[in-house]
Amino acid sequence: MKSDFIKLLDAQTIDIEIDKLMKSKNEYPKEIEKMKQEINDLQNALDEKESRLIEIGKTRRNIEDEIKAERELLSQKEKRLLETKNNKEYTAVHNEIELARQRIDSLETEDLELMTEQDILIPERDELAEILKVTTKKNTVSINEIRKKFDSIESDIAAREQKRTHELSDVTNTRVLSIYNRLRKGKSGLAVAQVDKEKLTCRGCYKQLPPQKVLEVRRSQKVILCESCGRILVWDSRDEE
Ligand SMILES: [Zn+2]
Repeated sequence: MKSDFIKLLDAQTIDIEIDKLMKSKNEYPKEIEKMKQEINDLQNALDEKESRLIEIGKTRRNIEDEIKAERELLSQKEKRLLETKNNKEYTAVHNEIELARQRIDSLETEDLELMTEQDILIPERDELAEILKVTTKKNTVSINEIRKKFDSIESDIAAREQKRTHELSDVTNTRVLSIYNRLRKGKSGLAVAQVDKEKLTCRGCYKQLPPQKVLEVRRSQKVILCESCGRILVWDSRDEE
């Protein structure tokens, strides 16, 4: 027959498991959210590069059209230059040609800059798309695993609560029980602490216990609290039998 104190110790072990499950239950949605966010962020970064590439493509086509048109005008002007009749007219056409050449030059420079940007962006986009693919696959697997665990948590908790209630159902000392319940709600959630049999310390706070106190705990006749951490001290004699 287990003593009341040993029952408390076993109930506490189950309670700690329940606490852990409750914590996971709160953590799981956050973990799922984090993994979804990671996919979203990658998708957004990819979309950004994709739309910049589309924009560059459009601009480059416009520039190329403009260069073509400018070149046609230039060749017309070059023909006109040959047909000029005086110096004044020659200088004017010559200046127009110079301006057209400068315009073509600056368009070609702009086009070259865009092409350079394109050359950098394309491999970046491809790499990002690959990372997105791998991350989506990996995170989807993890999310599904977490969802499964999350779905079974309720029943895991219920099963343990039942076990715990059963463990405490025949605790005869109601005072012990109320102390246990009160301490459980306290800061650390731990109500019971075993006595370290070799060091004769409280395993809750590692403080040395007076030999007389240890003797009283071993007798299990009454509730003995650790003076330092306030927990119910328990001597687990099961491995001695
Ligand atoms: Zn203690």
